[in-house]
Amino acid sequence: MVYINALCPHCGSNDVVYHGKNTNGKQRLLCRNAECSRKTFQLEYSYKACKPGVKQQIVEMALNGSGTRDTGRVLGISKDTVTAVLKKQKNFQNK
Ligand SMILES: [Zn+2]
Repeated sequence: MVYINALCPHCGSNDVVYHGKNTNGKQRLLCRNAECSRKTFQLEYSYKACKPGVKQQIVEMALNGSGTRDTGRVLGISKDTVTAVLKKQKNFQNK
């Protein structure tokens, strides 16, 4: 078995194996921890908004008064992605 020097970003387990490639040719990895909240992840993403933790960062920036375009510029993602993430938040609906 090939040893992979990577940790699962969701549970921190090092019990990961190669799990094919996505349509962009980036390597996918599978976490074999049965209690992990998500099963697969990638070490590098083509789109920065897909990285784990970026959505949480968008919400935190919005709560600290950053505008949509401001947040997009700082995180290097589209302002439309920022809007889409915020619209999905329960706390932002019906207000
Ligand atoms: Zn995991």
